Amino acid sequence: MLELAINGGKPIRETYLAYGKQWINENDIDAVVECLKGDFLTTGPAVKRFEQKVADYVGSKYAVAVANGTAALHMACFAADIGEGDEVIMSPMTFAATANCVLYQKGTPVFADIDSKSYNIDPKEIEKKITDKTKAVIPVDFTGQSVDMDQIKEIAAKYNLCIIEDAAHAIGTEYKGSKVGSLADMTEFSFHPVKTVTTGEGGVITTNSTTLYEKMIMFRSHGITKDHSKLFYDDGPWYHEQQLLGYNYRITDIQCALGLSQMDRIDDFIRRRREIVKQYNNAFALTDEIITPFEEDFSNSGWHLYVIRLKLDKLRVTRKEIFEALIAENIGVNVHYIPVYYHPYYQDLGYKKGLCPNAEKIYEEIITLPLFPGMINQDVEDVINAVNKVLSYYRK
Ligand SMILES: *Cc1c(COP(=O)(O)O)cnc(C)c1O
Repeated sequence: MLELAINGGKPIRETYLAYGKQWINENDIDAVVECLKGDFLTTGPAVKRFEQKVADYVGSKYAVAVANGTAALHMACFAADIGEGDEVIMSPMTFAATANCVLYQKGTPVFADIDSKSYNIDPKEIEKKITDKTKAVIPVDFTGQSVDMDQIKEIAAKYNLCIIEDAAHAIGTEYKGSKVGSLADMTEFSFHPVKTVTTGEGGVITTNSTTLYEKMIMFRSHGITKDHSKLFYDDGPWYHEQQLLGYNYRITDIQCALGLSQMDRIDDFIRRRREIVKQYNNAFALTDEIITPFEEDFSNSGWHLYVIRLKLDKLRVTRKEIFEALIAENIGVNVHYIPVYYHPYYQDLGYKKGLCPNAEKIYEEIITLPLFPGMINQDVEDVINAVNKVLSYYRK
């Protein structure tokens, strides 16, 4: 048997392979340089063009671009009027930002358990958590797989809830043939470098509602409007009003120039992600120690993450040893996610472990393998070989 790198053997790779990474080409660089030579570094024509391109791509009426995905979620919670005493239901199997955005607005995150096959929020669990204080639900398209939006919409209609879809993983994902971003009241996308398309840092909310759109535009820039048709009082051409308490969440033209150029290649990015996933699925189909990702019929995933689940009863060690052994092989594995309420900040707010048993069990067993479109076939082979090497070493 091959000696593991962690025990002094030769690693599968000489160099470290990240779990996710941007793919920048000359066109991207030229687009940014072009912007730097122009008149606008921020809030110029590139922002509007980027917003239009994202809206057109997903099939929504509006898009509002901001500094990052977290700011986008905060803006959506503001537009949805989340405030003190309001409860917002979400999965704990997500990045902390999904819940933090509710706290920013002094609302209360309420965690509902996930389905143990798709790892997405279970609509039945949403319904169990509804009270007369529930105002919104934030379903996350975990790894890029769409939530069952029809079921969630039915619940939202029944209890009059706003749906803010956290699609940070899911630009390009289709639900029953429609692009994610056209379905919920508001949908958030992130353009962080590990996500499918990047602007360095960046976030977008898409919506079909003019009311929500107008609130978000003001919130993004201090709550100030310069639109003279909207002023309560008009003291002259210079006049503008701060009508609500907003933030400076603006995105730059430099970032949007990059985003525009990246959006030209989104279909290629997703095609390559799907290809790599197929290679992983084929390679691991008969590997007894892992469960490969389950795919819902209604979702055509854009594949942000490839999450495997270990069958710990077939292994001599826990996830920690497998994880460390893969890192030693120079494979940049990760864990998505630590249940949000495990974080000390949330524990201090009074959330107790045991709240969402499926999420907690799955958390113990998952590992994210590298997945990004710039991976070459040798990288994919290295990941497969490293997983097989480590699992065969530790199998019972
Ligand atoms: C990346 C991400 C966000 C937003 O993150 P930013 O880094 O602020 O763009 C929100 N939710 C989830 C699930 C994410 O993965």
